[in-house]
Parts: sequence; C-alpha cells; structure tokens
Amino acid sequence: MLIDKFGRKIEYLRISITDKCNFRCIYCQNKGPFQTIPHREMLTYEEIEEIVKVAVKLGVRRVRLTGGEPLLRREVEVLVKTLANIPGLEDLSLTTNGYFLKEKAKLLWEAGLKRINVSLDTLNPYKFAQITGGFDFKQIWEGILRAWEIGFNPLKINVVVIKDLNDDEILEMAKLTLNYPWEVRFIEFMPIGKNSLWSEGHILSISEIKRRLEEFLPLEETNTYGGGPAKVFRWREGRGKIGFISPLSEHFCYKCNRFRITADGKLRTCLFSDREINLKAYLREGKGSIEEAFILALSFKPEKRELQPTQRGMRAIGG
Ligand code: SAM
Ligand code: SF4
Repeated sequence: MLIDKFGRKIEYLRISITDKCNFRCIYCQNKGPFQTIPHREMLTYEEIEEIVKVAVKLGVRRVRLTGGEPLLRREVEVLVKTLANIPGLEDLSLTTNGYFLKEKAKLLWEAGLKRINVSLDTLNPYKFAQITGGFDFKQIWEGILRAWEIGFNPLKINVVVIKDLNDDEILEMAKLTLNYPWEVRFIEFMPIGKNSLWSEGHILSISEIKRRLEEFLPLEETNTYGGGPAKVFRWREGRGKIGFISPLSEHFCYKCNRFRITADGKLRTCLFSDREINLKAYLREGKGSIEEAFILALSFKPEKRELQPTQRGMRAIGG
C-alpha cells in the first residue's frame, strides 16, 4: 500500500503519454519556444504497462491518460487495451482536447475505454479558435457527440475559467447539463509553468462561478463517479451534473490521492512541486525496482501545495 506520512493513500495515477499537442491553448503555453521531448526519452508502451502493473500491486485503482494531446500518440488504442486488461485496475480514463475523437472514439471504446473527459472552454467558434490557436469548434463538438452516442459514460467536459476570456459563458456551458447527461466541470485557472497569461486578476473563484449559476437556478449537491477533487452539483431540472474544481481558492491537498508521471517518465508527487523521480533510471539503468521508486516518492509528497509557477508547463505534466 502507498500511504504517505500524512495518512494519504495513493490510489490514482495520471500518466502523460506525450507532451506534444496540436492545439496551442493560450492558458497552457509556456513563454518562449517549446522544446518537445525526444522520442527515445519518452516512456514506451511496455514501460507504461510495467509501471501500471507495479502501481496496481501497490494499491493504485485508477489511471488517467493525458498529455499533451494523448490521442496524438500513435495507436493509443493499443495502450488502452493493454491497460484495460490489467487485473485490479478498476478505472481507466483519458483527458483529450477532442480533436481526434470523431475518428478515434469507436476504437478507444472497443479497446476498453469507457469514460472520457474532453476539454472545452467555450461554445463560441470564434473564441474557440482564439483560445486554441485556430482550431474548428465543430470538429470537437461532433467528436463529443460521437463519444456520447457510442456510450462513453460519464462524459465530462472540462472548462478552465479565465476572467475576461470565457467567464461570460459560464451559464451557457452549465446549461449543457439541462439537455445532456454530461458533467460540466469548472476549473480555476492555475499558475502552472511560466504561463504568459496567468495572473491573479485572471482567476475567477469557484465560489463566484457557483454564485452566478445559482442566480439562474438553485444547485443541489450530488456525487461524482470516481471521487476526486470536484464538488459536484446538479440542477433539479437538468439531466447532467455540474462540477467545481478549486485548486486555488479551496485547496484539497489533505485528501490528495494521486501521483503523476510525465511523458519522459518523471514521477511527480504534486502538480505544483518540481521534485521528480526519474523512473527511466529504474527501468533502463538498473537503479532499482519501480516499487522502490514509488516508495521513495511517498516521502517527497508535500503536505500542501506551494503556489508558485512550476518549471514544467501543463503540457509536459499532463494536468
Ligand atoms: N490536451 C488534453 C486536453 O486539453 O484535455 C489533455 C492535457 S491538458 C494539459 C489537461 C487539462 O489541463 C485540460 O483540461 C486543460 O484545460 C487543463 N489546463 C491546462 N492549463 C491549465 C491551467 N493553467 N489551469 C487550469 N487548467 C489547465
Ligand atoms: Fe494542448 Fe490540452 Fe494544453 Fe490545450 S490544454 S494546449 S489541448 S495540452
């Protein structure tokens, strides 16, 4: 079992399988040129499988694949199928920008992925292009509908709320839950990487977002699939749920149950901490067993997050 000195049990692993992304979301960019990880430095599918098998043996029950854009990694469905078949892994999920969903949703489903999170910060095609670096809203929307028709459940939509960029659309985004049985989740804008856009003035707190939604209709608390940091509500009139993730205004470090692995195989114990363990040294250079690396990582996990921009950007860490 992976239990740290503050009594937190690690049950959840987020694995970034690539730092490459077709999008250039303005809130996810590091200042200056972005160096991608050379292919030989990335974890192979076999290495990811080995890591997950050890993690499951140590009590991890849930794995999320992320990136960069995970659907850019070649034959991602092969990895999904391998992981979905690991005994003891109860929950496998993936976070995507949705661009390749139309083409990949069926393959992913058949490979054993049953739930998915799609990031979508606006319903306005013009603004969508502005945020993502010129991409077509319709492509993502059709991908989401395709995933829904196939049966992905729960289907969650992640919305990063940024003051003066998309906060005028909070209500419209939440209203999706009146018509669709999806979970729309609002996330506070975080200072990850040397983000040129981030400033305190751009944060809209979750309490303010919630207050604005309650002006429309009262929210009642409900539960979410798989636990996690979101506080989840619904409108009685709706079919879906509305989640709130407040890493800044209300920190949830005391119940943090996760480790992260970057695409180049660095184990991070906290999104906001740059202290990493190089798993490739264990996998490729005989430094020790992966089990030993996990146990060592437990001693690094900070009690609370330090709110200062991290060295790596969100694309490299995986969100
Ligand atoms: N490319 C995929 C996507 O966009 O869903 C997966 C990787 S992305 C880094 C994972 C999540 O992090 C996305 O939901 C994205 O909106 C969110 N994210 C990126 N930068 C963020 C920031 N500075 N604050 C809060 N969330 C952020
Ligand atoms: Fe790419 Fe996701 Fe970052 Fe947007 S948020 S640039 S889609 S990794």
